[in-house]
Amino acid sequence: MLRIGIPSALFYYVYYPLWKTYFDELGTQVITSGKTTRKLMDNGVREALADACVPVKVFFGHTMAISDQVDYLFIPRIVCLNKKTVYCPKFLGLPDMIRHGIPGMPPIIDVRVDARERKDSILSAYYQVGKMLGKTSAQIIKALLKAQIKQFKFQRLLCGGLQPLEAIDNIFNGKHNKPPDNQGQLKFAVVGYPYIIHDQYISVAIINKLRRMRINVVTPDNLSPLTVRIQRHASPKRLFWTFSERTLRATRYFAGRNDIDGIIHLSAFGCGPDSIVDRFIQLDNYSSTIPFMSLTVDEHSGEAGVSTRLEAFVDMVKRKRRDIT
Ligand code: SF4
Repeated sequence: MLRIGIPSALFYYVYYPLWKTYFDELGTQVITSGKTTRKLMDNGVREALADACVPVKVFFGHTMAISDQVDYLFIPRIVCLNKKTVYCPKFLGLPDMIRHGIPGMPPIIDVRVDARERKDSILSAYYQVGKMLGKTSAQIIKALLKAQIKQFKFQRLLCGGLQPLEAIDNIFNGKHNKPPDNQGQLKFAVVGYPYIIHDQYISVAIINKLRRMRINVVTPDNLSPLTVRIQRHASPKRLFWTFSERTLRATRYFAGRNDIDGIIHLSAFGCGPDSIVDRFIQLDNYSSTIPFMSLTVDEHSGEAGVSTRLEAFVDMVKRKRRDIT
């Protein structure tokens, strides 16, 4: 059976259910790279360009971890899906960075998706992949329909409060994760890119840390695409980059709610877009009275430093709440 490798990084947190189901239905075996570990991060740091952002370095590590177990790596070149914003240039260059940056990589399925070029660009991309694997049109369409149903189920679980890895566990591993509900406790929004927030190693498990402090946590991934789309931010122009624009709009949504007690923006060292996104978030929501903290993580982020800052922030929010009530 043909083995397709999907590194557990970057788009994994957004499209894994769709991709896995699609390849499963086409009769291939999907291999993933599991959780980020120190070794995997070190490998990525060694092979990636020094000025790459942390998530891209991690992606290198994940790719290396499965490269000798698979026949193909699936690293699509996703440029634009909504005709309005594009993915960060690092995403666009991923297949080339991996192909030319790491020796001995297996062939890469790097189909290009750009919804601005043609209406059916997404469909066409899946069709190309299916044909490349020698499947008939009927097989491809059936696989894609099943994959979309699975992705829809994933989205529903996210909107119900689960985080992406928990939802993936429920769908593919028969788990019954439920979002913790600490009744009457504080609720924080952790905003940023999904591959930073939900990678436990990069984020230093910030969501688990907050949950252990009995804080309820929501992230942009818990919002429906429509909720994000209808938010308006103060800037007359959209940001160019899809995940950045999504972060800005989601933060705007959380900042306007009265059931959110604190907002934490988690960004990665070396991220070009985030150097302005964090500032935009602050300018966009300057009239909001919800406490806000930005936290930048890098490959050297230590448990203790992050925990101390989180505890200080939680204490400050609790004091504020006591003063109000
Ligand atoms: S948006 Fe930032 S963190 Fe994400 S891939 Fe681009 S540079 Fe890296």
